[in-house]
Amino acid sequence: MPRILLFDIDMTMVRTDGAGRGAMDAAFRQQFGIEQATEGMVFDGRTDHGIFNECLERHGLGGRDLSSHFERIAESYLDHLPGRLAEKGGVVLPGVRELLGALADEDAVVGLATGNLRRGAAHKLRHFGLWEHFAGGGFGDRHTVRAELVRDGIAELETKFGLAAGSAGVIVLGDTPLDIDAAHLAGARALGVGTGRYSPEQLREAGAEFALADLGNTPEVLKILLG
Ligand SMILES: [Mg+2]
Repeated sequence: MPRILLFDIDMTMVRTDGAGRGAMDAAFRQQFGIEQATEGMVFDGRTDHGIFNECLERHGLGGRDLSSHFERIAESYLDHLPGRLAEKGGVVLPGVRELLGALADEDAVVGLATGNLRRGAAHKLRHFGLWEHFAGGGFGDRHTVRAELVRDGIAELETKFGLAAGSAGVIVLGDTPLDIDAAHLAGARALGVGTGRYSPEQLREAGAEFALADLGNTPEVLKILLG
């Protein structure tokens, strides 16, 4: 039975150096004439659905029109994102490319559990040449609660690969306590990766079954993911 592995994107696999925030700010500027709309907001571990809606509400754009405003901001954000990614460059974090290459030869289903919009995830991972490694997963288009997108991701991949529900061991890889909690609420285990704002110790304290400073040591990571 293959293992299902669900990767977070931002600060777990890649650093986009503010491209996402820049695209959001550009969207709010273009659509509503609001400057620096996201100033002071924390994005780590959250979903785009949650972030965009909070930002709309803090600028008085909530209420009855929230969902139509959300659609408008999401489309504009997706328009701006490729340009911001090209401008900022960003980096693939240590060992990620090697790990994904090695997993292609293993009995594992490789997917995503990310708060990014599905099309935003595709833009980010295509920018780094990583998108083709992922068979699908859970995304942040509809959910504010991260566990729900992890459940979506598991269900999508079970269906796609003909796996009985709940039969595959699932490991979520993420850089924040929110990733760890979401994994557990969805019945998965978690590998905390210390490349974001949290150390491996903090991620272990948050309940991660496994934690590493980064994904740089491919044999060690494979042992955790497939062991
Ligand atoms: Mg992250």
